[in-house]
Amino acid sequence: MKRLLLMIGCAGLILTSCAQSKTEPKKKEDKKQEQNMSNNDSTKVEKTESEWKQLLTTEQYHVLREKGTEMPFTGKLLNNKEKGVYTCAACGNELFTNDMKFDSHCGWPSFDKEIAGGKIKTETDTSHGMIRTEIMCAKCGSHLGHLFDDGPTETGMRYCVNSVSLDFKKE
Ligand SMILES: [Zn+2]
Repeated sequence: MKRLLLMIGCAGLILTSCAQSKTEPKKKEDKKQEQNMSNNDSTKVEKTESEWKQLLTTEQYHVLREKGTEMPFTGKLLNNKEKGVYTCAACGNELFTNDMKFDSHCGWPSFDKEIAGGKIKTETDTSHGMIRTEIMCAKCGSHLGHLFDDGPTETGMRYCVNSVSLDFKKE
């Protein structure tokens, strides 16, 4: 009896492993496609600094590639309230949507969250005698601005972004 049970158990195992191997190729394919898709989505944009210089305006190059800061209250997107998507001005990576933007009165376009999917990377910035969190486009490494945790909305976050670092795609 014990032996029979064991045999049934083994047969069961074989059956399950058969079933697994049957579905496995499809699973692998799916996974591969997923990987390809996410690879496409987050493909790094790598250019030399002289290529960036040709591509960007002087002001854009200074802010995006030399981590500059535009003068407050001067950015063209500061008071933009239209519906659409804010993208990286250097590579077009979609970063924020209009519903994430809020009026922070700090002089730079501000957002309380980012579009999900690792589109923005952060780094500790100790320049100018302050400890701040720098935000950069994860796709091309361009400087966007800084991230603070004093936001007035429920997320508590304030993405303070140079208008120069952004483009706007109207909905
Ligand atoms: Zn970018």
